[in-house]
Amino acid sequence: MRVALTDRCNLRCSYCMPEKGIVLAPKEELLSFEEMLLMIKAGVNQGINKLRFTGGEPFVRKNVMSFFESVSKIEGIDSWHLTTNGVLLKPYIKKLEQLGLSSINLSLDTLKKDRFQQISRRDYFEQVREVLNHLLESDIKVKLNMVVMADFNADEIKDFAELTREDKLHVRFIEEMPFNGGSLRASVNPWSAAQIITELKKEFSGIRSLGRELSGTSDNYKLENSKGSIGVIPAYSRTICNDCNRIRISAKGELKNCLYDGGVYDFKELLRDQNLNEELKIEKIEEHLSRLVWQKKKDGFEAENSLTKIDANHFQSMSHIGG
Ligand code: SF4
Repeated sequence: MRVALTDRCNLRCSYCMPEKGIVLAPKEELLSFEEMLLMIKAGVNQGINKLRFTGGEPFVRKNVMSFFESVSKIEGIDSWHLTTNGVLLKPYIKKLEQLGLSSINLSLDTLKKDRFQQISRRDYFEQVREVLNHLLESDIKVKLNMVVMADFNADEIKDFAELTREDKLHVRFIEEMPFNGGSLRASVNPWSAAQIITELKKEFSGIRSLGRELSGTSDNYKLENSKGSIGVIPAYSRTICNDCNRIRISAKGELKNCLYDGGVYDFKELLRDQNLNEELKIEKIEEHLSRLVWQKKKDGFEAENSLTKIDANHFQSMSHIGG
């Protein structure tokens, strides 16, 4: 279960949103942390054992660490993970380690300072590099997410892959997706996962395939004599849907069975029903979840085809959807 903690973000990445940002949900429409915990507890009762927290950017939400503290106490969770751009992360690494956070996906699309500013429209490159170094010294597993863009950073695939030689780092190359919130950015000849793999094989003759974990998101590889590994995520070509077991809860409490569907249920009304106590709410959420997951489409293409035009307009930015 992936839970988006907010739709707000402190970067303005061109593949995610326009420069002026996106239309944000009014604050009162965002789930409170208490409401999110009810969703999680219901999910765990129904067999969910892995959680990922996304955004927007999770750390722009106030008091997020006390929420993580509560999450760490929920029984029945095998692992919990975070996706972040890292800008605000540094002061919290030690505490997250103590709370037992399993891994962090850190978004970093370039190793060049000027390009970082160009892509994200913000000047936080040094902060993110520093956070990466701190994370590598911690016990938290680190995955580095790079969205491959033909016109921005595809020429850095080799440099990113090289990072896995010395560090126990999982570098993941992600296909660009169309969720750019109406950004004027147009993907000219976007790189497919197959192309990324061809490029890696061209650059590194000793690269070997590690396959893909059951329900995993990436096809994995390893360079010779390297401490880390490489993943390629077919987020747009969607060749990994057959065993996908991911569900998403948006910051506004909508359940999505797939990244590409328009949301299959809005839990907000139930969560805010004054006539129900917490126990009854959890019970009812469980009933809905156990029914709704069976409506998951065969794959991301079928999910996308089920979109109405209104859905399509509404779910345009990754910051709304939750990564
Ligand atoms: S079913 Fe949807 S969420 Fe799952 S891998 Fe396919 S596109 Fe992604």
